[in-house]
Parts: sequence; structure tokens; C-alpha cells
Amino acid sequence: MSMRENLEVVRQRISRACERSGRDPSGIVLVAVSKNQPADRIQEAVNSGLTVFGENRIQEAKAKIPLCPGRARWHFIGHLQSNKVRDAVSLFDMIHSVDSLELGSELQKQAEKQAKTLRVLLEVNVAGESSKFGWNPERVVAELSAINRFTRLELHGFMTVAPYAVDPEKVRPIFRRLRELRDQCSQQLGAPLPELSMGMSGDLEVAIEEGATILRVGTALFGERPRLKKKEPIESDHID
Ligand SMILES: *Cc1c(COP(=O)(O)O)cnc(C)c1O
Repeated sequence: MSMRENLEVVRQRISRACERSGRDPSGIVLVAVSKNQPADRIQEAVNSGLTVFGENRIQEAKAKIPLCPGRARWHFIGHLQSNKVRDAVSLFDMIHSVDSLELGSELQKQAEKQAKTLRVLLEVNVAGESSKFGWNPERVVAELSAINRFTRLELHGFMTVAPYAVDPEKVRPIFRRLRELRDQCSQQLGAPLPELSMGMSGDLEVAIEEGATILRVGTALFGERPRLKKKEPIESDHID
């Protein structure tokens, strides 16, 4: 199938899930996860109407973004090492994967240097998987006010990567838990935390039903991901 056809299928899935849950599809941002995809595929995606792209490796993004249409917007969705923070701040509009106070502090410093404010989400490891990065839920509650003091970071909400499951119903409790955590934190801060980045190719319907506002979809838009040619250091705990 062409990219346009894939996009049409994904849009239909989104609109049906929105209908079922009484939500407005215009309240949902579709992030096209373009990791491992060459610039010409991203050009094709932009031509098909996609505008926001998700990358999980700074090295790859740094090489690729200058080759892509200027209209494209970029979100970082992988684990961010502190030595890559400078590039992350200059390349990305939003970081989904702030996973520690130390990283928050590094981002604050770099954003200050670059005279920017940065939209961020906190990545929560809801299922407590040892293979994944992200805050544990109790810790995020405890450290919330410290994070909120980073003046250069605009805290918009939370992100999670659910465990892999063949049956998407299995991950519903994870998405629900993230929403409940968001509600609790928003009350604690006395400020809205509107964004929930959750849901990928296999489970976006369930994510929408549980309140997702940002979907990160790769395979369903681009098809199977090409493998990286040479072994690169994996900065992401996530799915390659
Ligand atoms: C790769 C990746 C995705 C997209 O996964 P698909 O199953 O291809 O849709 C979403 N989120 C993160 C963090 C990823 O690393």
C-alpha cells in the first residue's frame, strides 16, 4: 500500500475510536515515527499530509533533519543521553522522553543557552519493566514540583511505552494508569497537563479510548521499518 493509503487507514482507525469514545479527532496529534526511514520517505510522508515526525536517535536525526522538508516538525521519543542534550534542544520541538531530574536540569541549561523554551513530556515506566527507561509512578509524583521549577521547560503531560502485547486489550490498564497519574499530578500542580503520548501502530484504538492526545505511529504508516545498516549504539530502550 502507498503511504497515502496507509495514512487513510490510520485516520479511519483514529476516527472510529474517537466516535466510540465521544472524542474529537482534531484533539489528537499523529506523530509519524520515522526512525530508520530515509529522508525521501519522510518527503513522501509530508507530501501525503503528515507534519510531525518522531525520532529516537540524535545521531540519525541530526544527519536526516536537514535533508527533510522545512515544514516537518520533530519530536524526540527515545532515551536522551546528557551528551546529546545540546543537539536535542536545537533539533526538536518536543521531547517526549524526559526520564529523570538530571535530564530535566541538563535540558533547562541548554534551553537557556539557546534562548529557547522547550515543550516536554515525562516518560513514565508504568509497568515497571526493567528493560525500559522512565520514571516510576510514585517517584514522578514526588519530583513533580522540582521538575516544574525548570523555567525553560513547558511541562505538557506524560508519555509511556506500553509492553508489547499481541492483544491490545492487555495494555489498556497501562494507558488508564497513565491517565490517572496525569489527573493526580495535574491536581497537585493546580495546572492542566493536557497531553498523553501513548498508543502505537498496534494499540492506538485502546490508547484513544483511554485518553491519548498524541499517538506515535511508525509501522502502520511507513510499513515494516528498514533495518539499520551498521550497528549503532542503541539509545532507545524501545522498539527498533
Ligand atoms: C518505534 C516507536 C514507536 C512506533 O512503533 P510502531 O509499532 O512502529 O508504530 C512508538 N514509540 C516509540 C517510543 C518508539 O520507539
